[in-house]
Amino acid sequence: MSDHDAQPPGLTREAWDDLRARLARSRFRSRFRLNERDAAYAANQGIPTLCTHAYEFVGARLAPAIPKNDGRQTPMRGHPVFVAQHATATCCRGCLHKWHRIPAGRPLSDDEVGYAVAVIMAWLGAPPGGDPSDTGD
Ligand SMILES: [Zn+2]
Repeated sequence: MSDHDAQPPGLTREAWDDLRARLARSRFRSRFRLNERDAAYAANQGIPTLCTHAYEFVGARLAPAIPKNDGRQTPMRGHPVFVAQHATATCCRGCLHKWHRIPAGRPLSDDEVGYAVAVIMAWLGAPPGGDPSDTGD
């Protein structure tokens, strides 16, 4: 877990394409887009920094067996990673279970943390239905 700058492991191209297709069928998930401010922040920080932030958020807010305020621990806005978490259903343990088959009630393994980060970063690089630099209309 020392090399957070590298592309995170745990998500094949095939698995991402499959997940993307499922997320695109959810009206709730597919409406998330980076607003101008988040997109500018993402472009400014760059992918390695966003990846570090994703590890920090997932590690602190999702990885514990009983996360604090589970179901409400991920703000709806304020950081591109938060938006990506809602868009990819990696926002809380309930969504991780329902969408990604990762059981709640126990700590996430390092592999599961890496997987969640990989999903978040995949969305930030290629969100379902659009480009992160495309702010909508
Ligand atoms: Zn959730």
